[in-house]
Amino acid sequence: MPNQCEGTPENASRILGFLQEALEPDAGLVLVGGAVRDRLLGRGGGDWDLATALLPEAVMARAKKAGLRVIPTGLQHGTVTVLLEGRPVEITTYRGDGTYLDGRRPESVRLGVALEEDLARRDFTVNAMALPIEAMGRSDWREHLVDPFGGQADLEAGLLRAVGDPLARFQEDGLRPLRACRFAAQLGFGMEPGTLAAIPQRLEVAQKVSVERVFQEMNKLLCGKDAPVGLRLLERSGLLDLWMPELRPLVGCVQNRYHDLDAWEHTLAVVAAIPAEPVLRWAALLHDLGKPGSRSLGPDGAAHFFGHEALSVRLAGNLLGRLKISRALLEAVLGLVRHHGQRPSAQWGNAACRRLLARLEGDKVPLDTWAELRRADIRGRKEPSEAMQQEFETELQRIRQLAETKPPLVARDLALNGTELMDRLARPGGPWLGQLQAHLLDQVLEHPAVNNPEDLARLASEWLASEALRARE
Ligand code: ATP
Ligand code: MG
Repeated sequence: MPNQCEGTPENASRILGFLQEALEPDAGLVLVGGAVRDRLLGRGGGDWDLATALLPEAVMARAKKAGLRVIPTGLQHGTVTVLLEGRPVEITTYRGDGTYLDGRRPESVRLGVALEEDLARRDFTVNAMALPIEAMGRSDWREHLVDPFGGQADLEAGLLRAVGDPLARFQEDGLRPLRACRFAAQLGFGMEPGTLAAIPQRLEVAQKVSVERVFQEMNKLLCGKDAPVGLRLLERSGLLDLWMPELRPLVGCVQNRYHDLDAWEHTLAVVAAIPAEPVLRWAALLHDLGKPGSRSLGPDGAAHFFGHEALSVRLAGNLLGRLKISRALLEAVLGLVRHHGQRPSAQWGNAACRRLLARLEGDKVPLDTWAELRRADIRGRKEPSEAMQQEFETELQRIRQLAETKPPLVARDLALNGTELMDRLARPGGPWLGQLQAHLLDQVLEHPAVNNPEDLARLASEWLASEALRARE
């Protein structure tokens, strides 16, 4: 479980100062990795990664002596977890990595190396800095940073640069290229050209990363403050094609006069315009997957994308299924993709608005979530039109007010349930019942006032009679 370093840097230095005292001065206790990077960026919220010169057994003995609870979470990798004011903090002995054989993890680790060697095994220069705990509370803490690879300079320049030779580092561990794109998205950073150039040459190693890990990284990338930066890097480096080849045809897929961006650029703009939350970001990324495959030219030479939503749903389902995402996320994303093309306008009557609500309800898509994608879809144009945005908000308001009157939207909202309908018509159940309910719902969406037992019973008898007639014809 990652521990969150909430609160102020002062709080952090107080809590960690206590640990420093418990472990004694020769422990060489330092904050490393993301926590140092984020402190320099004035960005809080990540976890604390600590490193020490002590071997894990010594960390355990000294921490226990000071009355701390200690859990040997990963002794073979040199990691011990200590509970500080109820929160778990991982302390790892400075270590060097042995040979990487499987393209993901070292076969062995060497404990008790120098701090510099520990930093050298880390992925990017901005992640390869250490801050001694004893310096944390000082005003001149920056001067005490251990920064052998120029991490601070890269941080200032907004660059992700592999520590050492990127080709070798990406050969060792195929996850690193994806992490680089993820950090670029989270931090809004660029990639140093040599680091970027190495990725296409190491795609075979990247391909070995488990899909669960890929999904975790992709999720973080998509929810990053500058997700399009990460997505562009995936596209340019070829990583996109490993896990999400369905997105490739969007690049250069020219749209019609309503869309001045190609489908890929439009997708990036929609991702940027939607709140940074997984369901919304995935739906934004995948909503137009079906466009290239459904493109046709009308008599006037304009491109059309009839039925692209259904194709988007199918392709998005394949893509997300491969990434083994949870059922809940899958259904929420596909529901949004399925209905993203609905465009309510002032010409829509209330019945049409209720039908939209019914479709959303049927797929358990909350109106406000749907509205976020619609809104971002409108804003994701080269020149978003004020008028369109305004019209959408007006119509949304009308639909919201209709929804507040709680009109019947699904079969279970009907004033007669299945058993009652069978009783009223004196017929045993069968496929006819579902058809009848669909018919009644249709009537009720048109005229909510008929949703009472008497009217429904009458409509049901009429329907039955017309069905019988049809059967005789
Ligand atoms: P965040 O926790 O904000 O996602 P982080 O930089 O702390 O970012 P972690 O995955 O928590 O990332 O890893 C902690 C540190 O361990 C990193 O900063 C980096 O120094 C090192 N690290 C993590 N994964 C790798 C890897 N695959 N290769 C090399 N070093 C790594
Ligand atoms: Mg971390």
